Amino acid sequence: MYLVTIGLEVHCQVNTQTKMFCACATSFGDEPNVNVCPTCLGLPGALPVLNRIAIEKTILSGMLLGCTTPPVSKWDRKNYFYPDMPKNYQTTQMDLPLCIGGTVPLYDHCYPSDAQKSIARPGQTIRLNRIHLEEDVAKSTHLGNSSLIDFNRAGTPLMEIVTEPDLESAEEAFAYLRTLQMILVQGGVSDADMEKGQMRCDVNISLRKNASDPLGAKVELKNLNSTSAVRRSIHFEIARQTEELNAGIAQIQSTRRWDDDRGETQMMRTKEDAHDYRYFSCPDLLPLDTAELVERMRQIVPESPHQRQARYEDDFALTRYDASVLSSDLQLARYFEAALHASIPAKKTANFLINNILGTINERGIAIEHCPVPPQSLTSLLELVENGTLAANQAREVFIVMLEQPDKAAAAIADELGFKPTDVGALDELCEKIIAENPDKVAEIQAGNERLLNFLTGQIMKASEVKPNPKMVTDLLRTKIIS
Ligand code: ZN
Ligand code: MN
Repeated sequence: MYLVTIGLEVHCQVNTQTKMFCACATSFGDEPNVNVCPTCLGLPGALPVLNRIAIEKTILSGMLLGCTTPPVSKWDRKNYFYPDMPKNYQTTQMDLPLCIGGTVPLYDHCYPSDAQKSIARPGQTIRLNRIHLEEDVAKSTHLGNSSLIDFNRAGTPLMEIVTEPDLESAEEAFAYLRTLQMILVQGGVSDADMEKGQMRCDVNISLRKNASDPLGAKVELKNLNSTSAVRRSIHFEIARQTEELNAGIAQIQSTRRWDDDRGETQMMRTKEDAHDYRYFSCPDLLPLDTAELVERMRQIVPESPHQRQARYEDDFALTRYDASVLSSDLQLARYFEAALHASIPAKKTANFLINNILGTINERGIAIEHCPVPPQSLTSLLELVENGTLAANQAREVFIVMLEQPDKAAAAIADELGFKPTDVGALDELCEKIIAENPDKVAEIQAGNERLLNFLTGQIMKASEVKPNPKMVTDLLRTKIIS
């Protein structure tokens, strides 16, 4: 058995209309090489102009993840020769990135569904090293002996989000990516769709025998483009390295490629060190004074899912699970908050939403933001529960009809279904009658067999012309018979 150490570098496109250093469109799926200009083609003499929105959204991302932005940030050239990078350098950030530090909390519900019952470190937080902003490269496609290059993607703003080596398993890496996606998408800074290549992941993984040993040689898995590929490749790599180490084969620092079809990693090259890139400050772009930008972003930074979860737990006394379900989806959170009302405990609104509404609309393929029943109508429905007109299961029946007839008031539907506000006098009379008719049952209840209360409740429900709230009936019977 070896200890596994994993660090992730995630490249994530910032959702802007235009590219990082020019005004070309960033749209996806256009004809190849239509969204290009001398700057993003890297033609000699073309000069870059900074994209303010990309910088603002990167600073916002940092705020969502608890990073700090240094007062001055600057741009550097990372030099390498590659067909998808016509300038032969990438404009990026080396020593003064836009964001430093920060953390990503791993949400339970972001683990793979088959691993949610066996989370090794629940509530674990992964430290970030940095987030820097750079430009994406062109996209190359290899066909037989020729290669095709599409420069539409070249120059798209790209955040590189780098963790500390804090992850210990394939499942944590999976949960990290899903959590990060959720935070960035909800924050409106990236669409983070791995299928569209908007988010790509490099995995650094090493094994060692004991925690006191130095970290083992780092193997880098390049450009993984799905969360399942990340998970599978890490499983493969742990097994491969374990087998080699057991056979006495030392690992060397290297870069490997994941072959998704074969389900294995293959050696690409032994790794260049950072200085091979011969970084130097970009002579075309001035360092950036960030103070004013940071101040402005602070005014508009949205709540992150984990901040919302903490607020739900603190303010509404929701359980961690309920709070995480409601805060994981921005639309769901909005619906929940819009349905809240002083007359109903928030916990009851949350319970009804999670236990009765989500399943019902999922079955019908309705997303919460398209739910025909507006949150205010849910409030009216829950008020009927609160004032004793409806039991929770009756409210569910009313809700199902409301889905079909969203313009009709909850009370009117309850009425049509026979769920009438209980006439306390009539109910009292009926209770007395049933008690008088069942002296043997009453005696047994008084002797301690409280389950028979349900039997008597059933008798009353049958005899009643309206459908009273069964819990209310049982309570009334208990008071009459026991105390
Ligand atoms: Zn351009
Ligand atoms: Mn990068």
